[in-house]
Amino acid sequence: METEGYPGVAVKKPLLTPKAIINQKFGTKACYKVEEVQESTQNGCPGLAISQKGPCLYRCRLQLPEFSVVSETFKKKKEAEQSAAEMALEKLGINPTTSNPTVQEAWDDLVLRLKYLFSNEFLSSLHPLSGHFRAALRREDQLDGSVPVSVITICDTKSNNLCKYINPEVESNPSLVLSLVLRAAATLPSFISISEEQLSIKRRDPYDPEIIQSVVNQQCSFPESTSIEAICIPYSVDKTVVPVTLSVSSNGYYLDVIAHNLSVTDSSKVLISRTIGRASSETRLYARASKLYTLDPSSELLQTKAVQFEGSLNVRASYFSGQDIYGDAILASVGYKWNSADLFHEDVSLRTYYRIFISKIPSGVYKVSRNAILAAELPAVFTMRTNWRGSFPRDLLLAFCRQHHLSEPLFSPTNDPLESVPQLPSSHKKLKVTESGKSESNGGGIAGSGSVGTRGTFRCEIKIFSKHKDLIIQCLPKELYKKDTDAIQNASLKVLSWLNTYFNQLDMSLDKLTSSGDVLGIQFYPQYFLKEFALCRPVHNVCQSIRTQGGRVSHSNSVNQIDTVEGVYPTNIGGPDSGVSPSNGCLACISYTISLVTEGEVMKELLESNEEFEFEIGTGAVITCLEGVVTQMSVGQSACFFMELPPQELILAAAGDSARTLSLISSKSGSLECSVTLLRVTEPLEDRMEQALFSPPLSKQRVQYALQHIKESRATSLVDFGCGSGSLLDSLLDYPTSLEIVVGVDISQKSLARAAKILHSKLSTNSDVIKPSTAIKSATLYEGSITVFDSRLYGFDIGTCLEVIEHMEEDQACLFGDIVLSSFCPKILIVSTPNYEYNVILQRSNLQSQEDPDEKSQSQASKFRNHDHKFEWTREQFNHWASDLATRHNYSVEFSGVGGDGDLEPGFASQIAVFRREDDHPKKVDLTHHYEVLWDLNSTRMSRSAM
Ligand code: SAH
Ligand code: MG
Repeated sequence: METEGYPGVAVKKPLLTPKAIINQKFGTKACYKVEEVQESTQNGCPGLAISQKGPCLYRCRLQLPEFSVVSETFKKKKEAEQSAAEMALEKLGINPTTSNPTVQEAWDDLVLRLKYLFSNEFLSSLHPLSGHFRAALRREDQLDGSVPVSVITICDTKSNNLCKYINPEVESNPSLVLSLVLRAAATLPSFISISEEQLSIKRRDPYDPEIIQSVVNQQCSFPESTSIEAICIPYSVDKTVVPVTLSVSSNGYYLDVIAHNLSVTDSSKVLISRTIGRASSETRLYARASKLYTLDPSSELLQTKAVQFEGSLNVRASYFSGQDIYGDAILASVGYKWNSADLFHEDVSLRTYYRIFISKIPSGVYKVSRNAILAAELPAVFTMRTNWRGSFPRDLLLAFCRQHHLSEPLFSPTNDPLESVPQLPSSHKKLKVTESGKSESNGGGIAGSGSVGTRGTFRCEIKIFSKHKDLIIQCLPKELYKKDTDAIQNASLKVLSWLNTYFNQLDMSLDKLTSSGDVLGIQFYPQYFLKEFALCRPVHNVCQSIRTQGGRVSHSNSVNQIDTVEGVYPTNIGGPDSGVSPSNGCLACISYTISLVTEGEVMKELLESNEEFEFEIGTGAVITCLEGVVTQMSVGQSACFFMELPPQELILAAAGDSARTLSLISSKSGSLECSVTLLRVTEPLEDRMEQALFSPPLSKQRVQYALQHIKESRATSLVDFGCGSGSLLDSLLDYPTSLEIVVGVDISQKSLARAAKILHSKLSTNSDVIKPSTAIKSATLYEGSITVFDSRLYGFDIGTCLEVIEHMEEDQACLFGDIVLSSFCPKILIVSTPNYEYNVILQRSNLQSQEDPDEKSQSQASKFRNHDHKFEWTREQFNHWASDLATRHNYSVEFSGVGGDGDLEPGFASQIAVFRREDDHPKKVDLTHHYEVLWDLNSTRMSRSAM
């Protein structure tokens, strides 16, 4: 697929191949099957044909939702496919090959087409339109066969396309189509009769009697009458949408029934919209047509009347269809199809309605694609293909543009090895890192700038055009990627995230919108942008509450207590601790149910459940509180917690029984109850490699290494810089040591919460008695950045910083080096980081052991071990960094490592520098406290006050 390129629909109309057009219209619903056909050999014996291996030919069968076509045979598979696509287009009435017809040609073609549509031949064919003709002829009282003018262009793509050539405005104004069809029909007065008054159209002379007879006698396969569930959307946004039932009798015409429900006299007064939602759906809006529609579009009267008419513009219906719809509207999925003479229908429930509704929100398409409306969120970052779940960002963006009737976005990936990396001001990066604590890993897969030979060269620009081809959004992220697809996905996600920000706060000031775009490399053109999304505000008035939900994400401090239930470690996690917990970059697989419970749990209604739901930890792929709880669980455990109610629209989009749910939400105040079980955790590639390829695993070897130094130096105090979820502290506690004071510091609240849980269970078991084997008197976890000094961590015997610096930008790693040796002044400092040169070995063995081909290409693509790594240094780079630091701050330094052999190329897997303070009387310290105590052994024992 990727080699096909990204169909660029630019300002000019591109020449698309038939396949590309089919793909645009049907996406994955178009199924090509190519079969080999042996050219018949001279002797005509099929058995021999195989052994003779005559030239091989291909035939392609293209299956579309409603019909299929089979191509002739071709020498190349591609040709067969294109030919099949072309045949399908022909059948659909789309002509891709000839250049656009002139207005006059289109006009002549439209007249010819009308003539064909009212022929005897057409009436007995299976076509979405002929079904209407037949139904109209069967009507109980009158056999005159009048149909509304609007069905012609709605059901016949060919005439609709011709109308578009005549006047492109018809796209957004369906009334114009009607006037065009009427004018074309008026040129065939002896054949077609029209009633402008009625807005109906029929054949002047009756059809051949036999044909009429066969139509009238036609056995209808469905019973006396059919009930079709539909939705009524009142024009006033203050009124809620309600279900309606359309009862169509076996010899009735469904449009008459809809007319009745709209309180208009007959079907000819019904205006039909384009399809809503999925490309292949028959879901449309039906509303009252106005006589004004028959007027010439240029008529001034129309302009002025339309203004008066505006009062009853149905904002929701217009927003859904991208067409102007007035008065109450009915949303129904009903009509005739290519493959059957029977009426097709599907119930449209409130849930369907709300799913269409939320599909218009940038994150909504993602939620729907994951079938997790309440649990899933559009992730904040795209780390790597293999970790992404649900539709990919590019597809989500395409879907979003389709939903909003924008032109197809233009993706322009560029590969420019010579291009210099534009310097991104570091404030931008910091902003993303600190905000929300949601993700320490931003823009994963990015080649760290300035790192050896690892710089990617792909960037992707995205342009989004309005339906009138005005440029509305332009995005050119600065990051470079090793693969064009990663550049495309990341850029798409940036646009989606920005759009999401806007949808979450539709009254956001232009300034704020601009600055949030700046951060992401997005520019937008307010005059067109706001025009294009004008209807969002009145329709998504609910988004204010969605925003509140989003707000909980960004102010993690104030809500952490509620979100993670009981502060740092929720007490309601059940089941034995298996010790396997997910951390950032892991894939967590959970099963969950979310139910609506009313006050006091009197009533409980299941809203959403998934038996296996996998997501990447640390990217914000699920709602904050769910991720918060899951990161504190271990595999096999279950938890249950309560959440505030999300916006009603989200609840109803998830709920199976909307009516009951609706009555529950409106009757009492309630909340959502979430039950979750952690089924399994897939560690990031780096960890899997470290465990699979080294024995003991590299992480254990690092612990052993630190332990050895603790023993040798008889250290009594230890600080672990970037302690993460506490794996070092945890393991150290398994050994008897001289340590009395241990401290961990990290910027990730989530990791710290897990560290706290582990240390808590280890150090203050049941009776608050510390294990006798340890001398530990005090253990504390701080939240803060190790690039900022805090005097409480001054002058420790030993400092460790294992596999942390590569998670910071290089300048930050250098800053940490200076601060730690000049201000924290530990007697010994142990720093470990991956040895970049060792990666070839990891990758080689990784390739052999990988079953997943996708992951294979991923590991080839990113030369770093972990997508969160900002750099990985060669031995030379690391030595240079460490030696320079040591000299400047009066420390000595020695180099070592774990994994592999330091004396053999390419050195250790993890390289380690051990710094020793030369100077016994370091400078005086300023007594600043910059860190927050997140957990503290003493306070846990006493009062848990720290929480
Ligand atoms: N030392 C741990 C964790 C390594 S993962 C271990 O060996 O298991 C890297 C950790 O560095 C993450 O937990 C991340 O949150 C932390 N980190 C990254 N930048 C940091 C900073 N500026 N200050 C403190 N911690 C940081
Ligand atoms: Mg690392």
